[in-house]
Amino acid sequence: MARNIGSRYTTHQILGRGSAGTVWLGEGPEGPVAVKLLREDLASDQELVGRFVQERTALLGLDHPRVVKVRDLVVDGNDLALVMDLVRGTDLRTRLDRERRLAPEAAVAIVADVADALAAAHAAGIVHRDVKPENILLDMEGPLGPGGAHPALLTDFGVAKLIDTPGRTKATRIIGTPDYLAPEIVEGLPPRAAVDIYALATVLYELLAGFTPFGGGHPGAVLRRHVTETVVPLPGIPEELWQLIVQCLAKAPASRLRASELAARLKDVLPLLKGIPPLDVDEPDAEPAPETYEEEAYATGAGAGEPGPRRAAVPLVPGASADSNRDTHTSMRVPAPDELSGGPLGTARAPRPAGARRPGSARHKAEAVRKRRITLTIAAVVVAGALGAGGYLASSGDADTPPQDSKQSSLP
Ligand code: ADP
Ligand code: MG
Repeated sequence: MARNIGSRYTTHQILGRGSAGTVWLGEGPEGPVAVKLLREDLASDQELVGRFVQERTALLGLDHPRVVKVRDLVVDGNDLALVMDLVRGTDLRTRLDRERRLAPEAAVAIVADVADALAAAHAAGIVHRDVKPENILLDMEGPLGPGGAHPALLTDFGVAKLIDTPGRTKATRIIGTPDYLAPEIVEGLPPRAAVDIYALATVLYELLAGFTPFGGGHPGAVLRRHVTETVVPLPGIPEELWQLIVQCLAKAPASRLRASELAARLKDVLPLLKGIPPLDVDEPDAEPAPETYEEEAYATGAGAGEPGPRRAAVPLVPGASADSNRDTHTSMRVPAPDELSGGPLGTARAPRPAGARRPGSARHKAEAVRKRRITLTIAAVVVAGALGAGGYLASSGDADTPPQDSKQSSLP
């Protein structure tokens, strides 16, 4: 049933549900749009609404062919909505779930598009802060690029900043999605542009390999790996491409490439990738075998000091339970140094037995992940809520600088 959002938009049918709200196919004065209606609990938070209005100029100002354009922010009674360009297609997570791995040429073409989007955002002083396949949309109506890849557009700028109010996120807390979080965030530094580069390199690795370099198991274990582990090489890709990945996954933010340089170098390697089929690599064994392993371990008193069958089951805080590493987390705690140094299981990944599948791999977990897009409350560590995703506005990458302009539009 059609519903009015502000005075200019109507919504018709649901396009998708996300963790921050529901995305509707809508109609505006200039034609079809996508309308993300934020969740009620977010929309009723007065502080958040104020911030929402404050951010509007910076959000609306980001105009680039590889960025899903935010056209309007609407505050209407209890509704809080982002009006975006409609992208006819699918998100990259859906494609990855279907195909598991992409051919290197298509993977690099998609990631080069996103690097272009980031270059524009970073130049405008905006850090995205939640780059991941869920937030990359593929425009099925656009022209096919290298490797038969559809144009990719980065979306969800702006939501994390809204959620990241001082009251909600103390200096020691982290917002983001564990698999894609740069080590400096885990160590408590403010997110600058280089965190997006790290996340994008993680996405590239995942598109090629079918799994993320440091994912698997408890979110706390994932955070620790970002800080302490080195990435396992991917056989079968040109050295030039591997070096780009390694450089952008560097622990030190200053060692990573800038977005524009990454985009250019990815485009340079594209010709080398023609005809290379999706890689055939074994996923390291980093996941507790049964979904219930962690709960069982803690119920019986096993904890961080006690090696389980797989290292990823070792959490930063005993008693924490399993959750999805692919949702945006809003209440992760910055781990203490001793937690980051890891235990006996914090070593290199063990090879996976031939033929055995990791239950937590992207594909096999996808269904569970979708079903579990719910708010989890886990004491002391991870996960107060899985809220959308987002952008982070900053002057020169300084995440704490508020935007200057606070004009409103579409307000009743
Ligand atoms: P969240 O970030 O809150 O989890 P998403 O932004 O991922 O939510 O949106 C959920 C789904 O809605 C996406 O998977 C996608 O299918 C659809 N969607 C989001 N934005 C658009 C858009 N601009 N055009 C078309 N579909 C969209
Ligand atoms: Mg999203």
